[in-house]
Amino acid sequence: MNPLLDFTGLPRFADFKPEYVTAAVDALLAENRALLDRLEAQDGEVRWDNFVEPLENAHERLSRAWGQVGHLNAVMNSPELRDVYNANLPKITQYYTEIGQNRVLYEKFKRLRASPEFERLDRAQCKIVENELRDFRLGGAELPPEKKARYTEIRDQLARASSRFSDNLLDATNAFSHFVTDENELAGLPEDVVEAAREAARADKREGWKFTLHAPSYLPVMQYADRRSFRELMYRAYVTRASEFGPAEWNNTPLITEILRLRKEMAQLLGFGSYAEYSLEPKMAESPRQVLDFLEQLAARAKPYAQRDLDELRTFARDSLQMSELEAWDYAYVSEKLRAARYSFSDQEVKQYFPETTVLPGMFKLVGTLYGLSIEPAEAPLWSPDVRFYSIRDRSGALVGQFYADLYARPSKRGGAWMDEAITRRLKEGRVQAPVAYLNCNFSGPVGGKPALFTHDEVITLFHEFGHGLHHLLTQVDHLGVSGINGVEWDAVELPSQFMENFCWEWDVVQPMTRNARPVKSCRARCSTR
Ligand SMILES: [Zn+2]
Repeated sequence: MNPLLDFTGLPRFADFKPEYVTAAVDALLAENRALLDRLEAQDGEVRWDNFVEPLENAHERLSRAWGQVGHLNAVMNSPELRDVYNANLPKITQYYTEIGQNRVLYEKFKRLRASPEFERLDRAQCKIVENELRDFRLGGAELPPEKKARYTEIRDQLARASSRFSDNLLDATNAFSHFVTDENELAGLPEDVVEAAREAARADKREGWKFTLHAPSYLPVMQYADRRSFRELMYRAYVTRASEFGPAEWNNTPLITEILRLRKEMAQLLGFGSYAEYSLEPKMAESPRQVLDFLEQLAARAKPYAQRDLDELRTFARDSLQMSELEAWDYAYVSEKLRAARYSFSDQEVKQYFPETTVLPGMFKLVGTLYGLSIEPAEAPLWSPDVRFYSIRDRSGALVGQFYADLYARPSKRGGAWMDEAITRRLKEGRVQAPVAYLNCNFSGPVGGKPALFTHDEVITLFHEFGHGLHHLLTQVDHLGVSGINGVEWDAVELPSQFMENFCWEWDVVQPMTRNARPVKSCRARCSTR
C-alpha cells in the first residue's frame, strides 16, 4: 500500500519514497473530485453531516498526505523529492482554486447558513461555515467566468513562484562554502564552532575548516571572528544569496517583482484596492492604514532606544576596539565584545549552560506544571536520525498529542524555525483524534559526541515554536476547520508563542533548565535588568 494513503496512524516516514507522491496525489484528487460531483448533485437539505463533514474528511486526507510531502520537501530536500513536489504542486493548487470558485458548493454553504440547521450547530461549526463563506468570496466564487480563468492562472503562477523562491534560496545557501586553511583566521571563534567547522571539512575530505551560510556556522562568525575581512566575506555572501549579485539561475529579484505584480492583480480582480486590503480580510487588523499607524508608532517609540544603543556601540568600538567606522558585518561582533566588557559574560559562555539534554526536560517540566501534563519520548517512524518524537499525556495518562522535534540545521533543511501540523485534533466517529505537530529549528547539532549546546536566543526560539506547538496540540476544539491554529486570524497566531518566550526570562524557569547553577547565578541580576 502507498504509505501516503495510509491514514490509520502516524505518517510512515520510514517507508516514504518520492515515487509514491504522484500516485497518492492523483488518487486523492480523483476521489475528492468524485465526492464533489456527488455533493453538487445531492438534492434536499444541506446539513453538517451530509455536506460539511464529508468535505472535511476528504480535505483532511489530502492535506495529511500532501502535508507530509511538503514537510519532507522543507526538511529533507533532495533533487528527486523537489522534482516530484514541484510536478504535483500545480495539481494541488488547481484543485483548491477550483473549489474556491465552485458556485454550487458556495450556494450550498449559503443555504446551510440560512437554514434552521445552522442554529443547531455549535460555535466551532458556525465559525467554520462563516469562514467558508468568506473564503469562497476571497477564492473568486463570485467572479464572472472570464475573470475566474485569469484568477486560476494567477494562483497557479503564484504557487510556482513561491516554491521556486524557496528552492533558489536553499540552493544559493548550500552553494556557498568557505574553507579556511590559515588558523589565524579562526581567531576569536569558540572552540565548539571551530570543531564543527573541522568536522564539516573532514566530511568533505578537505583540509582545514569549512564555514557555510547555515545559521550554526554563519552566526558565530559574525559574532566572534576577530578577522574583519572574514566577517565581511561571510556577511556579503549571506545577504546576497539568491539575488542579482549571484548566479542568474537562483536570482529571486525577478520572482519578487512577479509575485508582487500577481498579488496586486489578484486583489484587484476580487475588488480590493490593494493586496494589503485583501490580505487583511481574514485578519484582526481592520485596514492597511491601521497596520501602518501601528508600525509607525512602534518605530517612533523604539527609535530613541535604538539610537542610544547605536551611540553606545560606536563609542565602545572607537575607544576600546580602535574601530572608527562600524560596517554591517561589525554590529554583532562589537555587541558581543561590549557585552563581554560590560557584563563579563559572553553568549558562548551562557551556551555552556544550556545543553539540549537539560533544556528540553526543563521546558517539558514547565509545560507539565502549567497545564498538568507529562511529556515523554515515544516511538515513531522518522525522516532523519536527528529527529526525536514525544507524547504528551494528561494526569489520567490519556494521550493529548504528539510531536516531532527536528532541531538541528542540515543542508537539506530550509532556514528558520517553524511549527507545522501533521495531524489535527478532531472528533471522528465519536473518538478524539490526537493532534501531532512538527517542530523544526536550525540550531547547532552535537559536536564531538557531546550534547548540542543552545544559545539563549536558540532557547527563546525553541520556546517560541513550542508555543505554536501547544496551540496546535492542546486545542479542545472538536472540528477540524477551527481546531488548533486552523482558522485563527494570522495576526493573532503569535500570541501563544510570545507567551512561551517570556518564560525564558524567568529565573525560576531558566535556573532548573541549566546544567550548572553557579555562574548562571551571576546572570540573574543581568536578566532581570532586561
Ligand atoms: Zn511564530
